[in-house]
Amino acid sequence: MTVTRFAPSPTGFIHVGNLRTALFNYLIARKAGGTFILRLDDTDPERSKQEYVDAIKEDLEWLGLTWDRVERQSDRLDRYAAAADQLRDAGRFYEAFETPTELDLKRKKQLNMGKPPVYDRAALTLSDAEKDALRAERGGHWRFKLNHDRIEWADGILGDISIDAASVSDPVLIRGDGQVLYTLASVVDDTDMGVTHVVRGSDHVTNTATQIQIIQALGGTVPAFAHHSLLTGPQGEALSKRLGTLSLRDLRAQGVEPMALLSLMARLGSSQPVEICQSLDELIAGFDIGQFGASPTKFDSEDLFPLTARYLIDQPLEAVADDIAALGVPDDLASAFWNVVRENITVKSDMAGWWTLFRDGATPLMDDEDRDFIAQAFDMLPDPPYADDTWSTWTAAVKEATGRKGKTLFMPLRKAVTGRQRGPEMADVMPLMQVKPRAQ
Ligand code: GLU
Repeated sequence: MTVTRFAPSPTGFIHVGNLRTALFNYLIARKAGGTFILRLDDTDPERSKQEYVDAIKEDLEWLGLTWDRVERQSDRLDRYAAAADQLRDAGRFYEAFETPTELDLKRKKQLNMGKPPVYDRAALTLSDAEKDALRAERGGHWRFKLNHDRIEWADGILGDISIDAASVSDPVLIRGDGQVLYTLASVVDDTDMGVTHVVRGSDHVTNTATQIQIIQALGGTVPAFAHHSLLTGPQGEALSKRLGTLSLRDLRAQGVEPMALLSLMARLGSSQPVEICQSLDELIAGFDIGQFGASPTKFDSEDLFPLTARYLIDQPLEAVADDIAALGVPDDLASAFWNVVRENITVKSDMAGWWTLFRDGATPLMDDEDRDFIAQAFDMLPDPPYADDTWSTWTAAVKEATGRKGKTLFMPLRKAVTGRQRGPEMADVMPLMQVKPRAQ
């Protein structure tokens, strides 16, 4: 049974980078008919906020990425304490007392001597009396004692990985104030919840190395790991600082359609072309984690707009009927309205401008040399309602009366009626016009 999880910390809104992780884990679970868990990594009581929990759920719901159950790490503190005891009993857990400043100094010294900044395990040499004395001053933190072997795994994206455990510091799993840290909580959860596949960002590769040893020390089964590359901006620049403006709620507010975002994220950085999918089922069927490459993936939020437009073009009226009704378009015009605007919008909210134009008429767009022509032509246009043949009948009469033809006939009339250079077929526009277009 395939079990995956998306494990955000509810300390902020989720952004496109998080989405990549969520989507890959979701797709793997759904493709295998398995379980997808939403796990809230909320062991940090100061930074974790309920409003972010709600926001994460709302964002995933907007995208249709449904989860089978929610787990909260703050509900599982007893399990982490038990796992800590197990590691202590196995001789793999030790208490250390260095302050952040002391650790920083050690690292600087090591770097000055050309050595890697790996924790020197000084705490292992403390006597019980020394520990008691230190404990009286400050809470000790707890480190996992790595076995200095090579840690190896076949990564689903990066290929074979081999890391020398001696080049990694023994990870701190419990802080001096007793707070359980992500590395321990995550491993205990993955083991207890039978997680079979973990996909996360490549910033977690070193964590994975240490987590593999912790899982083994706890007697758990090591899941399959895959680390996707980090997203960069369009020029390859780091995106980390801009991710705040690439939150899913910002994209939603800009009118990006869920399927446009999902279609892009399910293919970006893979050898498969980006194509708009109409449904999650289509995305699930076409997903293959093995097609993703290790190099950084360029992301440009502008790409989401042509995809959104592409998605909207193919939508049936039912999919947009509520939006159209909300604009005040009468029911009997809804179908004609949608057929006219679907190819002339980028985001749904662009429909509003078209409806205003049809309902109230436009401020005409007119070149000076066309003023008399437009005035003459508009004199020949009756009041609405207009029919399917209004445009052809009217322009034929105007052609006859003025001698204009082709572009010099049609373009000035289009610009005068719609106030725009481009747009839908005028034959389709006329029946939607609720008022007679103004000639000035
Ligand atoms: N809370 C962790 C993060 O957001 C989860 C990482 C993981 O998937 O294990 O980075």
